[in-house]
Amino acid sequence: MSALIETAIHSTPAHAGARPSLVGRDREGLRAALIELGVAERDLKMRTSQLWHWIYFRGARDFDAMTNVAKEMRERLAARFSLERPEVAIEQVSADGTRKWLIRLPADHPGEKPYEIETVYIPEAGRGTLCVSSQVGCTLSCTFCHTGTQRLVRNLTAGEIVGQVMVARDSYGEWPGRPQERRLTNIVMMGMGEPLYNYDNVASALRIAMDEEGIAISKRKITLSTAGVVPLIERVGQELGVGLAVSLHAVTDALRDKLVPINRKHPIAELMAACRAYPGARNSRRITFEYVMLKGVNDSPADARALVKLIHDIPAKVNLIPFNPWPGTAFECSDDATIDKFAQILMDAHYAAPVRTPRGRDIMAACGQLKSDSERERRVRAPMAPQPQAV
Ligand code: SAH
Repeated sequence: MSALIETAIHSTPAHAGARPSLVGRDREGLRAALIELGVAERDLKMRTSQLWHWIYFRGARDFDAMTNVAKEMRERLAARFSLERPEVAIEQVSADGTRKWLIRLPADHPGEKPYEIETVYIPEAGRGTLCVSSQVGCTLSCTFCHTGTQRLVRNLTAGEIVGQVMVARDSYGEWPGRPQERRLTNIVMMGMGEPLYNYDNVASALRIAMDEEGIAISKRKITLSTAGVVPLIERVGQELGVGLAVSLHAVTDALRDKLVPINRKHPIAELMAACRAYPGARNSRRITFEYVMLKGVNDSPADARALVKLIHDIPAKVNLIPFNPWPGTAFECSDDATIDKFAQILMDAHYAAPVRTPRGRDIMAACGQLKSDSERERRVRAPMAPQPQAV
């Protein structure tokens, strides 16, 4: 197995003190903070812009860094608020350059185990993509996904979501950084959780990340992936305008019902109708269909041909994801030759069908492998935990 570097980082817990962090607040939220401090109405607009600039453009971690804010004001801000990001517990680097942050979030009650999420950075030629989590764990229970076996679940706040982007920027020292030199250029909402089960917080976080006066990652460089929460798909296009990815994985309802159980609620025909109507879907902004390659389950030439039929009238590309194994799974990854044949059928029908290279497998950072260590320990200690079943 390839070498990996692991660093434990000791930083202050995000909620160590009683001071709430301003990270994750939009302009209205910052304004409310200033009102709380008694800032006069006539100064609110200017002060809000200043705060926004320091937090989201410069990445300030300390109010004292805000040199154009009067000292007395900085002291008042610091007495009442913080600029803390989510706490990084462990940062791991894969042999292939993929980086994973294990982030620890405070428990709801003292004495309980903290929550944990993972964020992954994937360097590629000419760009670097941050894979961001939207929930602790996931309630979807897709049978081939490790995250789905994690039972501890809660929605992340907007601050915890955009905080993952800020943690990565901190780590690479990219505040403000020259856009063309930044390592972090793209965001995919493809980490732990179903982003459309936490729509409001995901939307607030992405609005902050897209704002041109701050983090400024354009909507064209952001993709949100859903397992198929059909009723919210239109809003993603209309309100956020980011790219859409859909975790399809099967071409019949019978199989998809088993692999991606949300299909029982929103079957394939309904999902395809939402994709066809997705605002902004066109050839220059195609919908990505993700398709995990599971040996002997969904990988036959007949499946590929049925897939072509299913998406024939949608501007689409298909991302073929070799299945990434995890401890205890009964699934196996399709053979290379089978994947190539599947891809060829799609390409013959004029669909782009890149096979996603697994990244960061040595640090369990690849698609579907994210699951916090404490949960893994818990499973080892609790042999009665339900095992995922292969179909
Ligand atoms: N809930 C959202 C976001 C998660 S994205 C969604 O389902 O789209 C994570 C992607 O990795 C999804 O396409 C998921 O189906 C896929 N995936 C999950 N487990 C996997 C595994 N073990 N190997 C490869 N891909 C996997």
